[in-house]
Amino acid sequence: MKKFFFFLALLWLTQDCFCWGFYAHRKINNYAIFLLPPEMMVLYKPFADFITDHAVDPDKRRYILLQEGPRHFIDIDHYGKYPYRQLPHKWKDAIAKFSEDSLKTYGIGPWWVPIMLQRLTKAFKEKDQAKILKLSAETGHYIADLHVPLHASSNHNGQLSDQKGIHGFWESRIPELLADTEWDFFIGKAEYLKDPADFIWHRVLESGAAADTVLHYEKELSRAFPTDQKFSFEDRNGIIIRQYSSAYSKKYNEKLKGMIERRMRQSIFAVASFWYTAWINAGQPDLTRLANKDFGTDDQKEFEDLNTAWRNSPSTEREHE
Ligand SMILES: [Zn+2]
Repeated sequence: MKKFFFFLALLWLTQDCFCWGFYAHRKINNYAIFLLPPEMMVLYKPFADFITDHAVDPDKRRYILLQEGPRHFIDIDHYGKYPYRQLPHKWKDAIAKFSEDSLKTYGIGPWWVPIMLQRLTKAFKEKDQAKILKLSAETGHYIADLHVPLHASSNHNGQLSDQKGIHGFWESRIPELLADTEWDFFIGKAEYLKDPADFIWHRVLESGAAADTVLHYEKELSRAFPTDQKFSFEDRNGIIIRQYSSAYSKKYNEKLKGMIERRMRQSIFAVASFWYTAWINAGQPDLTRLANKDFGTDDQKEFEDLNTAWRNSPSTEREHE
C-alpha cells in the first residue's frame, strides 16, 4: 500500500505537465525581461510578476480547450530523420502534403509561435497594454517549450523505452535542483529576428536532434547507477514524495554536459528576442503611453477559469497529454 502511494506521488511530481516545469517557465519569462532595451523595460519590469505568473497559462488551458495541446510540441521524428527534410516549414505546404488533421495529431508548435508573434505585434500597434502583457507571457511559454528536446519527440515521456518520468526529470527536477544555485543566466541583450519563423524552426530541429541524447544518456546512467540510490524521498508540504535523487540528477546533468542549462539560456534569449522583434515590427510604440491598462472582466474570468481547470485536473489526465 505504501509503495502504491509513493508511486502516485511520483506520478504527480514527474508528470504534472509535459512542458518546461512551471518553475522553469516562470524563470524563463522572468529572466527574459532583463534582456530588453530600456524602452521596453519601462513596461515589462513593473509587470514582471504578471509576465512570470502567466508564463504557465497555456499549460492550464489544455484542460479547457481541446485545440491547445498540439500547440506545445511537434513529434518531429514522425517525419523521418534529422534534418527532417520531408516536412515543409510553410504551413500551407505542410497541410497540402500531410493534411491539417495529421499535422495537429503530431503537434503544431513551430507554426503556432509565428501566429503568437503576429498577435503580439498587433497588440503593440494597437497600444493595448493588457493584450501586450498577456500575449507576451503566453508567447514566452510556446517558445520555451520548443527548446525542450522531448517536445520534439514522439517518445516524449520515455513511454516507448521504459523511461517513464524522464520528461519531468529533464525539465522540472533538474532545473529546480540546479538553476538557482549553479547555473548562470547572464545572457546579454535581445536581438531583432529577421526571420522569426526560420529561427524557431532552427531551434526545433536542434531539439529533435538532441532528443536521442536525452533518452540515451538516462538509459545508460540508469543501468550503471545503484538502483537503490536512483530515487530519494522528500517531504514536500507535508507529503512524502519519491523523486529522482540529487546524486542521480547531478550525474545525469553532468552526462548531458550542460544541455539543460544551455537550452534554458537559449529559451530566455529567444523569448526576449521575439518580444523585441514584435515591438520593432510594430514601429517601436512608446510603452509609457498605452491604452487599455486594466484587464477587463473577460480577462479576469479567463484567468480564474484557467486556475480552476488546473486545480481540478487529476494527475491521471495530465499523464496522457
Ligand atoms: Zn507547454
